[in-house]
Amino acid sequence: MFFLLCCGMTKHKLKQATTLPYLSYVRNELEITNTRVKKWADWIPESDVYEAFYEQRSVIIPIPVCDWSFLVCLHEIGHISTGDRVFGYLREYNAEQWAIKRAKQSYNIVCDEYVEDAKVYVKGHLLANLIHDGLELQKIRPYVLDWLGESHTTLAQNLVELKAQQSC
Ligand SMILES: [Zn+2]
Repeated sequence: MFFLLCCGMTKHKLKQATTLPYLSYVRNELEITNTRVKKWADWIPESDVYEAFYEQRSVIIPIPVCDWSFLVCLHEIGHISTGDRVFGYLREYNAEQWAIKRAKQSYNIVCDEYVEDAKVYVKGHLLANLIHDGLELQKIRPYVLDWLGESHTTLAQNLVELKAQQSC
């Protein structure tokens, strides 16, 4: 997924940031979920190198240095924990919910900016599934619509606008 520079950090500060206690939190979650790290990558906001590999139960995650990068780690581990789904919107929704709830319940970490970004991300997948993958409006899970603050009407309007843009 894509990310803003978290917590108002400059790149210089980011380099100096301590990875504790986030690193021990992540190691704890890896152990609980039986997930292996394929690669620890540097934390680069907006990078799309982070990934989950379902079959191998492994992830490429950033070295966590702030709330945002910690949530990205949980997002990828969340993919392993919540499993694959046919539609991308549901796969991403499940991973986001898992990450956001886990961060709050287990570590008392809440990052409103991350949640807002997660909604944009899930909605992007939802629109792509509607346009390209044969997902029908009526079949979208209602709890996803609730969380996004969307309805069939607002999404239908978005689709009309997107199709109009594409035909220009
Ligand atoms: Zn994801």
